[in-house]
Amino acid sequence: MDTKNIQRICGGCTACCKSIAVIEIDKPLGKWCQYCSIGRGCLMYAEKPASCTEFRCEWLKGFGEEKHRPDRTKIILDYTKLVKGGLPGGILQVWEVSEGSLGNAHVKKTTLFALENEIWVAHFPLRGSRSIFVPRSQIVTEEIALVFVENNIAVTDWP
Ligand code: SF4
Ligand code: SF4
Repeated sequence: MDTKNIQRICGGCTACCKSIAVIEIDKPLGKWCQYCSIGRGCLMYAEKPASCTEFRCEWLKGFGEEKHRPDRTKIILDYTKLVKGGLPGGILQVWEVSEGSLGNAHVKKTTLFALENEIWVAHFPLRGSRSIFVPRSQIVTEEIALVFVENNIAVTDWP
């Protein structure tokens, strides 16, 4: 996704330490990491897993405004251009930080913006079913459908 040339730091945001899984330390989706000092940072910063070091949400990369930092919007945006199985245009993953936040107007607007720009969008709620939204010009091939089934993601109508 297009981002402005902005240098950002996480600051007081620790949202991904809740929402996203970290395989190296068996941290599941949607649960605070045992090493997180919420709103402050990582208690094992110097030795944190590679996936934590590598993860940069779209806000950190410069997408959106200051007010869209994930601990404020309660959603995390993560865009990947190339995905195994091949989704033309890439995929925007939207992770919920607080229950219900996927229903807010900012998520709807961002989801529609991505779909209109040929980007697939996946919603990951803290509870309940995961959804994938497909750009109108694209089709769900058998290979892609299998990936969705394996990951318990249902193809859903546009918001
Ligand atoms: S969600 Fe983004 S801004 Fe917040 S801690 Fe993670 S990478 Fe940093
Ligand atoms: S190890 Fe540190 S950076 Fe990684 S999820 Fe836990 S608190 Fe966050």
